Amino acid sequence: MSRKHFTLEDIRKAEQDFIPCPFCNKKPTIVFSDDECNWKDQDSEEYLQDPWSGLCFSICHDNEECPIVPTHCDNGPVYGNCYDTPEEAVEDWNKHLKKHGGMKI
Ligand SMILES: [Zn+2]
Repeated sequence: MSRKHFTLEDIRKAEQDFIPCPFCNKKPTIVFSDDECNWKDQDSEEYLQDPWSGLCFSICHDNEECPIVPTHCDNGPVYGNCYDTPEEAVEDWNKHLKKHGGMKI
């Protein structure tokens, strides 16, 4: 199975579509790890180009003060699960906020 290789640019581009958090107004970011949830160097494309141990994207909403930060990982608070693509992560966050928050887009 061949799959698309992601770049840091793909991630930064997807992040622009995040709806800011309705509680703290902060936009989340996307972080990536392997299938075992081992975080990779977020500033390097090396692992993205050769994700030999799987690749998953997570939503990082790094604001300890915010009431909707539900879970914590070693690398900081993470919202939701692992996603196959950065776009899916953004979609899930936005969908959740639209459903629960009455967000203005
Ligand atoms: Zn927040």
